[in-house]
Amino acid sequence: MYKLKDKVAIVTGASKGIGAGIARQLAADGAQVVVNYASGRSGADQVVADIDAAGGTAVAVGADVTDAAQVAALVTAAIDRFGRLDIVVNNAGIYQLAEIGDTTEELYRRQFDINVLGPLLVIRAAAPHLGKGASIINIGSNVTRVLPPGSAVYTGTKGALDAITGVLARELGPRGIRVNAVSPGMIETEGTHAAGAIGSAFQAWYENLTPLGRIGQVRDIAPIVAYLASDDAGWVTGEIILGSGGMR
Ligand code: NAP
Repeated sequence: MYKLKDKVAIVTGASKGIGAGIARQLAADGAQVVVNYASGRSGADQVVADIDAAGGTAVAVGADVTDAAQVAALVTAAIDRFGRLDIVVNNAGIYQLAEIGDTTEELYRRQFDINVLGPLLVIRAAAPHLGKGASIINIGSNVTRVLPPGSAVYTGTKGALDAITGVLARELGPRGIRVNAVSPGMIETEGTHAAGAIGSAFQAWYENLTPLGRIGQVRDIAPIVAYLASDDAGWVTGEIILGSGGMR
């Protein structure tokens, strides 16, 4: 049963990590998927090839989510290619930890630009094309509950995104557009490998405090997003769903 049949999705930051897993999941559930990337063209092409090989439909489109013109072109590409837009997943994001003494304006601006301005620009560009039954899903983080020391800026971006999710659920609800967030716990991705988190003392600390006793995998998050994207979640909006093994 293809629960996203006839729906068209944009997934930002889908060249690797959680976004790539979400793109694959939405395609497996029947959606036609725009696989967005910023610098990872080859990764996005591989995701598209995997989706094609599995019998799905996808296209890779490059766009930096902090650039309004590129974001507008991303949405136009989705409409031109597939004729409609139903699902927007704001996944593109970065995490750069720093204690307050090492927190620079550059670190602040880069994280807020990608993690907060990016989703706002994407939703602004997409909203005119969305109608009744459409679903916007923002990828937050359980750091807003865990409040890890050294994450003031990153956690601030995800707190802002949670608030934006709630506001836009109210603002777009009268048009039948749902807006929700999924907040993952620590997930093994290219990003967490590059950050040195996998195999670190932080991972051991994290797992020790997680009721389900492990960090997450991309497959733990993608089905939650697919559910929120589907009509099964037609009465769910303004929610922040933790996918964190109970860690909060
Ligand atoms: P990742 O492996 O580092 O992948 C990040 C993705 O974001 C890449 O596809 C990258 O594209 C894209 N991206 C970065 N800057 C972009 C920009 N300006 N425009 C468009 N795309 C951009 O990260 P991840 O671990 O999968 O994390 C994905 C999301 O989940 C983030 O929002 C993160 O905050 C959130 N999250 C992650 C975890 C975790 O433990 N992994 C936990 C909670 C929340 P290119 O490669 O093409 O540059």
